Amino acid sequence: MSEQNYQKLVQRQRDYFNTGATRSVQFRLDALKKLKAAVIAYQTKGEVALQKDLAKSEFETYLGEWGVVLSEINTHIKQLKKWTRRKRVKTPLFLRPSYSRIVYEPYGVSLILAPWNYPFQLAILPLIGAISAGNTAIIKPSELAPHTAKLLVDLVSETFDEAYVAIVEGGIAETTDLLKQRFDFIFFTGSTNVGRVIARAAAEHLTPVVLELGGKSPVILDKDIAMKVAVRRLAMAKISNCGQVCVAPDYVVVPQESKAEFIEVFKTVVREFFPTGSLDEASTYQTMTRIINQKNFKRLQSLLVGENILWGGKVFEAELKFQPALIDSGDVADYFSNKRQKTAILQEEIFGPFLPVLTYQNISDVIQYVNAGEKPLALYLFSDNATVRNKVLQNISFGGGCINDSMVHIANDYLPFGGVGESGQGAYHGETSFLTFSHAKSLLYSTTLFDLAVKYMPYTAKKLKFLKKLFK
Ligand code: NAD
Repeated sequence: MSEQNYQKLVQRQRDYFNTGATRSVQFRLDALKKLKAAVIAYQTKGEVALQKDLAKSEFETYLGEWGVVLSEINTHIKQLKKWTRRKRVKTPLFLRPSYSRIVYEPYGVSLILAPWNYPFQLAILPLIGAISAGNTAIIKPSELAPHTAKLLVDLVSETFDEAYVAIVEGGIAETTDLLKQRFDFIFFTGSTNVGRVIARAAAEHLTPVVLELGGKSPVILDKDIAMKVAVRRLAMAKISNCGQVCVAPDYVVVPQESKAEFIEVFKTVVREFFPTGSLDEASTYQTMTRIINQKNFKRLQSLLVGENILWGGKVFEAELKFQPALIDSGDVADYFSNKRQKTAILQEEIFGPFLPVLTYQNISDVIQYVNAGEKPLALYLFSDNATVRNKVLQNISFGGGCINDSMVHIANDYLPFGGVGESGQGAYHGETSFLTFSHAKSLLYSTTLFDLAVKYMPYTAKKLKFLKKLFK
């Protein structure tokens, strides 16, 4: 599509928004129900598309794409009437007898930019928020998952008039042209570097923007934990979608004395996840999602160069897969004394099934290590010790996370999901999606029956004295 066509599309949506049609709660509920029916109708085609794009198994496609989306739509359908109610808030004494309310209004025309790793979920989940809040939406799916992008085009264009919800395909050039248009809200999911490009484009029109980005999310293991359960939970999160998950554990930090046990248990767990065949052969990893493309495969392969691989890391180039790998990255304290320099695998978001293993002696060192990097999107702490929990939670800033689990916090739609600092800004899921896509309009309702003279000119010493008493 040309820049001119984008301009026309945005104008069409703005005209439609201005008719007020999307504001009625019933209209939004009907749209959510239509979307739900379409999502269900496209489930089988989705399994095929995601198999082609990422070799995603039926299980992972259901859990991470369709299941998540259906659960979110159901929540919105159930709760929308409650969320859209104007909210009563207190009014200070000096403003009485007025009363105050917050009214949630849609922004207008929203733009949703999606990545490739959960190409269905991450295009539709924000759309649910946009619809609930009464906006129109233009979705730009990732060009790197073309089969899912095509499915999204069919689903959206069959379900909605493009004056209300439209979808446009394209890569960097098309997105750049799209971003020149004036949107009322932008919701971006993707990498931190592209997030900066989006924020710059949004600034041009002072458009509010949510950035759902990535980063390096640590897993911290305390002493005396239930190792098998901890490793199973973190390994599942690291291996599902072949590690291509924004909230996947990026690296693990274990007590020095637990390192050997951790490695042994990790190997056992991988064996349990893939029970038949040799762990050195690609065929064993049939149910594992593959790396999205050759470029990312090569990037991941280069991350292993020069690393001390403790276990795994076999390269299956024809399948675009890797055997999960544990990397020996030394002790966190080594990096403060400059005894070791961080290699690429400790610097960039891995986004693959490799897990650097770092050790520590003192939990304060772990805090120092994590805080030396950017604020993570997620953090997972396995500990039953209240002192350790408090220390970690109070001293490290991160988007969200779990105690004694990994990744599952994103499945609770009562919890806002989003990053902080370089891992993102803004949040969504459940009611937070509705609030994110809404402007909270503040209203104070007054009366003309009373009119206190004290607030008016001329200013007198007596009036000032009264005001000073009032605010004391
Ligand atoms: P990406 O930033 O390369 O692409 C995301 C979207 O931006 C795509 O639609 C793409 O077409 C577009 N895009 C890419 N380059 C652009 C440019 N220069 N100008 C304008 N648009 C551009 O991200 P990706 O590779 O698709 O996804 C992986 C990244 O996304 C990882 O960093 C991951 O952590 C992050 N991610 C975050 C979340 C989250 O919810 N926080 C979820 C999934 C992925």
